[in-house]
Parts: sequence; C-alpha cells; structure tokens
Amino acid sequence: VHPAGDTIFAVASGRGRAGVAVVRISGPAAGAALGALAGTLPPARVARLARLADPQDRDPIDRGLVLWFPAPSSFTGEDVAELHVHGGSAVLAALAGALGRMAGVRPAEAGEFTRRAFENGKLDLTEAEGLADLVAAETAAQRRQALRQLEGALGTLYGGWRRRLVRALAFVEAAIDFPDEDLDPEAERRALADAAAVRAEIAAHLADGERGERLRDGLDVAIVGAPNVGKSSLLNALAKRDAAIVADMAGTTRDVIEVHLDLGGWPLVVADTAGLREARDVVEAEGVRRAAARAETADLRLVLVDARDWPAIPAEVAALAGPGALLVANKIDLVAAPLAPDAEGRVPLPLSVATGMGLPELLTALERAAAEALDGGGAPALTRARHRAALVDAEAALAGAVAEGRRAPELRAEDLRMAVRAVGRVLGKVDVERILDVVFAEFCIGK
Ligand code: GDP
Repeated sequence: VHPAGDTIFAVASGRGRAGVAVVRISGPAAGAALGALAGTLPPARVARLARLADPQDRDPIDRGLVLWFPAPSSFTGEDVAELHVHGGSAVLAALAGALGRMAGVRPAEAGEFTRRAFENGKLDLTEAEGLADLVAAETAAQRRQALRQLEGALGTLYGGWRRRLVRALAFVEAAIDFPDEDLDPEAERRALADAAAVRAEIAAHLADGERGERLRDGLDVAIVGAPNVGKSSLLNALAKRDAAIVADMAGTTRDVIEVHLDLGGWPLVVADTAGLREARDVVEAEGVRRAAARAETADLRLVLVDARDWPAIPAEVAALAGPGALLVANKIDLVAAPLAPDAEGRVPLPLSVATGMGLPELLTALERAAAEALDGGGAPALTRARHRAALVDAEAALAGAVAEGRRAPELRAEDLRMAVRAVGRVLGKVDVERILDVVFAEFCIGK
C-alpha cells in the first residue's frame, strides 16, 4: 500500500483518443509539479493557457489549459492541479513520464482521489458512492438517483438521524453520569421519544420494496417459456432496438443471455433463460433447474407462450405464470382469430417477433412495470445492501433502546450507542464523537 501523503496523478477523462484529456494531480507536491511543467503557477481557480514541457530536458509536451486549486478548496481537499491537454496517447505518456520522475509523485490507485476527498471530509461515504453510481449510470433514472445521492440526499437523511440519536444518547448518559444534577426528567423522556421516531423513520425507509437498489441494478426481467416459443428471437429483437444500451451476449452455455434496456429512463435487464420443458437428460435437467431458479428470483417474469397453443400453457411454464407475470403470446402471425380469455380470465399480450406486431405494446408494458417497481417519487431511496445491513442493525438496536417498561439506563445507553454507530457506518463516521461534548453544550452542567 502506498503512503497517503504521496502526491498522486491520473488521467481523469475517459480512455482512448480524444480532443481533450484531463490529468489531475493531488497532494503536497501538486503545486511544484504544475510549476515544473508549466513554468509558473496560474492564479487559484483561474484557467490559463500554458505550454507544458518536461522539466528534465525542456522537451515540449503540449499546450493546454492549467488550473490550480490550493487546499482546502479542491475536490480532494489537498492541493490539486488540473491539466487539460490534447487527448492523444503520446501526450499522456509524456506527461505521465515527466510526473512519475518527480520526487514523491506517483500514479493514483483506483478510487484514490475520491478516497482522499472522503478522508478530508469533502464527501461522506454515501456521497462517494453516489459519485461512483453517477459515473456508472446508464439511464436517466439511474443518473438522477446517483446525482441526488452525490448531492447529499442520503447523507443528510442519515446524518439527521445520527444527530438525533446522539442527542438522545447524551440525555440518557447525562442522567447516568450526573444523577445528583437537577436534570429535567421530561427532557430525557422527549429524547427517547425522538429516538423512537427515528426508529419508525428507519423502518419506513427500509420497507421501500428495494426500489433504490433495483434502480441501481436495473429491473430484473426473465423471459420464460417452452422451447421454440421465440424467447431468443424476442431477446434479439429487443437488443436491436435503439433503447438497448448493452447487448451483452455472454454465456456460452446458453444458460442466461442478458440485454440491458433503457425504457423511458428506467433500466431493465432482460434475460433469456433455457427453455422450460420436461428434461430428456441430466444436462438439460440442470439447465431447466437454473432457468426456473433465475425466473423465480426475477423482479418480473415475461411468460412467453405460442399463440397457436393458447390457452394451453405447459405445466413447467404455468408454475411461473402466476400473479405479477406478464403473459405474452408470440407468433400471433400464425393464428387468425383474436385470443380468447383462458379459464382464469387472462388474455395474453399478442406478439409477433417475426413481423414486429405487438412489440411497441410489449415495450410499453415493460416500461410501466419498471416505473411502478422503481419510481420512488423522488424520495431518497436506499441504494445499497451495505446501507440496508447497517440500518437493519440500527433499527434492532433502537428497538431495545426505546423498549417500553423499566430498563436500566445503562442498557438503553448501550443500545443507543450501537444505533449511532450503525448509522455512522453508512456515512463512514466510525467515531462516536465525545458524548460529553454534547452534554456540556446542551446542559451547561458544572458551568
Ligand atoms: P426459443 O427456443 O424460445 O428461444 O425460440 P427461438 O427464438 O429460437 O424461435 C423458435 C422458432 O420460432 C424460430 O424458427 C423462429 O424463427 C420462430 N419464430 C420466433 N418468433 C416468431 C414469430 O413471431 N412468428 C413466427 N412465425 N415464427 C417465429
């Protein structure tokens, strides 16, 4: 592991040839490095056109914009220099060579700039994760959620809970530590009532149907059906649409092939699974088993049947065609009469992958299902299993802290402390600040 006090540099823009590339330098030697390359430092936070040369042999490297962000007003909180140069590999190689030869300067490791920003208090952990999600966002809804998180929507929510719990803890501890002081018993009762309110807010936040996590990953849709109904034809048709952002045709075993779709800004991951039928051999039995397992865990099952067989559904498929499934009859081009309801009153969505008929309606149905499952109406949503695990812990600890009936104040305090720690874990605040500071600030004990 490299020392944290090093000055680091990296190409901050994307890979490959480009008009402009941005090289970022952060750390105590950033100013010296910029000065060595550009001759002098520009005024703080003002872009200046400069000729960059290798300080060793004065070999000119490029002409570009340079920026100087002295600490602490920079992304990382350290001295930062930015070079906007031409995005060619020879330019970037020359710059990397010149920077790498400077004392105390080295290439950055993955995520190291953001890590320093976090360590210098520029971002909390949820904001850092929001930044990573924003860079990875593929659809508009993912982008909006990530930007909200980067701008502190989750940090503010969790930070608020944490502050209120620290306050409750302070009141409980004060009663323990200063039993002879004339503390207002009402204040402690109110603080515990507020901790109970925080607990209810956490519980409501946890019970969100995992919208935020699913929005990050994309709504998981499994196409299920008997062999030959047109599952892979449908997936290919979806992949060829403009909306298909990645046609990830991985999986040579034909187990699962996925297509990522962007429908109205909502991300969907549509997977084709092996055909469901009575297996003829062990290999096929395993394929069918995996397909069924994948279908069962999917957020949405797109059940494909052959329109000519309707209303008959093979037994293996019927098991997955329950409530919440989207029933679609393909090869509608091969039947003349409209589809009649089956015994349960269901009418499948008519589709012909061959002619394209019914495809727009299917996409509309998928978009509606995604919006229903993923739209949280703009409220900040829990986005990661890491947050969920910590908040589940916090909720459990709070249940003990605010339990009705007689309970030793020491035990309530310990539960509150655990809850504060659990919420702090989400934010990356592992230290429980000195509770007595809060006590003294709020009650002026022994003033
Ligand atoms: P899978 O086994 O469910 O993945 O089915 P395939 O996608 O391989 O399709 C099986 C056969 O049905 C192929 O010969 C396709 O060309 C044909 N097929 C798929 N969709 C349609 C359709 O809408 N109409 C007609 N007439 N044939 C189709």
